[in-house]
Amino acid sequence: MQLIEAFKLRSKLSFLFILITFGLISIVIMGRLHIEAMKKNIDNVYFGSLVPVTELNEIVQTYNNRLFNTIYQSKRQEITPTQTTHEIHSDLKYIENKWKIYESHFKRDNEKKYDIYVGLEIKNINNYFTRIYRVTKNGRDLKALNINILERKIALINTVLEKLIHYEVDMASYERKIFLYNYTQSKIQLGVILILIMLAIFTISLYVFRSIQKDQTQLELTTKKLKKANKKLENVSYTDSLTGLHNRRYFNHVYEREVKRAKRSISYITFMMLDIDFFKQYNDTYGHVEGDYALKSVSKVLQDTLKRPSDYVFRLGGEEFGVLVTDTDESNSAKLARDICDAIRERKLKHEKSTVNEFVTISIGVVCCMADDALNDAILISRADEMLYKAKETGRDRYVITSNVSAAIPKTDADKDAICA
Ligand code: GH3
Ligand code: MG
Ligand code: MG
Repeated sequence: MQLIEAFKLRSKLSFLFILITFGLISIVIMGRLHIEAMKKNIDNVYFGSLVPVTELNEIVQTYNNRLFNTIYQSKRQEITPTQTTHEIHSDLKYIENKWKIYESHFKRDNEKKYDIYVGLEIKNINNYFTRIYRVTKNGRDLKALNINILERKIALINTVLEKLIHYEVDMASYERKIFLYNYTQSKIQLGVILILIMLAIFTISLYVFRSIQKDQTQLELTTKKLKKANKKLENVSYTDSLTGLHNRRYFNHVYEREVKRAKRSISYITFMMLDIDFFKQYNDTYGHVEGDYALKSVSKVLQDTLKRPSDYVFRLGGEEFGVLVTDTDESNSAKLARDICDAIRERKLKHEKSTVNEFVTISIGVVCCMADDALNDAILISRADEMLYKAKETGRDRYVITSNVSAAIPKTDADKDAICA
């Protein structure tokens, strides 16, 4: 039972441990999926579309392809001054717009100074184009325009903007590297924390399980001890303290059980009532201490004579004893009673006040019958008592045996009881 309980407990704990481990693994997988998705988003948004290189490239393109070409074509009179005015106006607006968008992006401190510088350079070159714009707006052509100055100004703004583009690209790849490094570090930290948590749970489970197991073992040990103590207590409560024989309490318990068993198997049952002869005189002569010693000696003789495991000897009270024997017929029961009488006498306990023998003697009333359903349990005891009385009456140091267990004994039948000296 305790083993089953211990096993149940073990499976419950193991189940709990598996559940927690499973929960943690699920959290790890889900967390990992989320972190991966987050990483992808940040990577795309921050280092992909939001790096403001596009605007700068478009500004460069506008200066190089559109504005330069417009001025060049206008100088060669391939387009009219009005067309030129229109083109310059829309391109400058476009550049202004792009630069505004670029400036609205996040800027690092060391980047801001260079941005101001680039802004001023853009303003400068734009002022140059505004002046050309005013000339063409007044309807004049650009024949006198020095194309070398235009080329130098375009080359300068190209250099300034390229530098800014390189800076942006370098910064983005540097930031991305740091981001990836931090991401890997976080993943490792998370893994280590989870492993530590799992180890802690495992250790705690192991500790709890060990302590429960210890308690269980302690409980088993205590239960065993308790059972032993109970058995001892039971033995004490069923044992006569003076003689060590079974007491009256145990007699009541065994008598009922053995009669029932004999009835079930329809077998012989023998009950003997024994009483020491003239024991009052014995006490009077030798004192109570010697009387107790005599009682112990008689008990020892009874135990030695009735050796079969199925033989029971009881001290029913005072100097009266009971003997319960099963599966023994009348002649063997009679032999047993005679052997008891002989053995007590031969123990040679001096009894000078006895009128039947110089030693302590015993009288026995015996009833032996085949047990069946008709047998009255109480009659065995009363009939044995009657036989004991008869043994006393007819001279003591003897047994009287009967097999008659009917409620009333006719006078003639009573005479038939065997009186054996
Ligand atoms: P009888 O042959 O008719 O049996 O005579 P008896 O003297 O034995 O008669 P009775 O049964 O009246 O006396 C029993 C005596 O047993 C009385 C008591 O002094 C003694 N006795 C009973 N219990 C004990 C005991 O525990 N120790 C001792 N020493 N004596 C006991
Ligand atoms: Mg008596
Ligand atoms: Mg007596």
